Amino acid sequence: MPHTATIDRNKVRALMQAEQQRFAEQHPRSLELYRRAQHSLLAGVPMHWMTRWPGGFPIFVAEARGATFRDVDGHEYIDLCLGDTGAMTGHAPAAALPAITEQLHKGITTMLPSENAFWVAEELQRRFGLKYWQFALSATDANRFALRLARAITARPRVLVFHGCYHGTVDEAYAWLVEGKPASRPGNIGPQVDPTLTTKVVEWNDPEALEEALRPGDVAAVLAEPVMTNVGIVQPAPGFHQALRELTRRYGTLLILDETHTLSAGPGGYTRAHGLEPDMLTVGKPLGSGIPSAAYGFTEEVGRRAQAVIQPPYADTGGIGGTLAANALSLAAMRATLEHVLTEAAYQHMIALGRQLEAEVQEVMTRYRLPWHVTRVGCRVEYLFRPNPAQNGSEALAGQDPDLDPFIHLFMLNRGILLTPFHNMTLISPETTAAQVRRHTEVFEEAVRALIG
Ligand code: PMP
Repeated sequence: MPHTATIDRNKVRALMQAEQQRFAEQHPRSLELYRRAQHSLLAGVPMHWMTRWPGGFPIFVAEARGATFRDVDGHEYIDLCLGDTGAMTGHAPAAALPAITEQLHKGITTMLPSENAFWVAEELQRRFGLKYWQFALSATDANRFALRLARAITARPRVLVFHGCYHGTVDEAYAWLVEGKPASRPGNIGPQVDPTLTTKVVEWNDPEALEEALRPGDVAAVLAEPVMTNVGIVQPAPGFHQALRELTRRYGTLLILDETHTLSAGPGGYTRAHGLEPDMLTVGKPLGSGIPSAAYGFTEEVGRRAQAVIQPPYADTGGIGGTLAANALSLAAMRATLEHVLTEAAYQHMIALGRQLEAEVQEVMTRYRLPWHVTRVGCRVEYLFRPNPAQNGSEALAGQDPDLDPFIHLFMLNRGILLTPFHNMTLISPETTAAQVRRHTEVFEEAVRALIG
């Protein structure tokens, strides 16, 4: 048996210190802005989780185009984070800008429908196979609205999510398993109710636990990503999707698939790529090339039942809404994105590069005998510092590496490559090139050599 490489933890920490120093030296302007921001922005950032970038302070961006961006210190980066999928289209995609710019001059929001609404709904129908569509401005809202409708039409109080999930800042989805029992997710800020009152939680890939939770008949909907992508990538085991669909049907529970990240699997997401049959589907982030946009769709049957519960005079005070939702700019951006950017041809390019990235990273792992693995959903690739793919949220969380995860991010960043924060996720846009993927692999190998050399 070939031995596997071992990583000296003290060495990782020493390397990390050196990278932090290098980062501070290379980013004087970002540091200056970050210091200034302490006087007006809470924690010195416009969004609190931006404090979590591994260099000690975030880099400030001057300009982002296609698959790259430049920071205020003049460094150029290959962007494999792509706004954590919000810019999976590439930044400011040239193919969508004319329609978006034109709409800016023709009015942004009126609270009346525009003709683009039909085009987008019909295209989503064609891509995902669901009949009726509604729009929102974030995937979080799409999920919230889908859950509300599911509870309203089933007249059931609870929902079910999988341990380790993330579906945006949706209160009901902030339930996890803690020591094997449903509880508020660690770090849940000021929950309005204890999420265990609203939500059941089971492990992904566990049909027995799922059936037990659905059996009492009080679960309105299961909300799930078709592949877990927010705790590292956790693939569905063979047969799990079939079990999920059969069990939800058997117990009268609606199945909501959140395709916000798995849209990386193809033009119709993982749902179309794998012939899944959700009752509802939610999607957001890159749908409008970064202009706030999201959509949620229903089967004909669910749409009919939903229509019955959205009755005047409560239509805009019933808990589903948003004055700016379905605004003309958002719809123009969605149309331009679907028509010109996230096309079949674009996906062929993106998925081919996803395969290249996966194969190159795997080759480095094999050559250096690293006890790690790499996994992929279309044009989304993730490497994890554990030997075998996790089967569920608990295994994925246990496999997170508090030393290596931040180290690899900072090492890459210092050499011009941005990974998605919190785990080691890379995403390919239509404008990413094979040379950029290759460059990522070179830097990845350089990091490996530093670790084990
Ligand atoms: N669904 C999934 C699967 C997500 O990963 C996220 C955000 N990471 C969301 C929904 C929420 O998206 P947003 O923050 O844009 O509302």
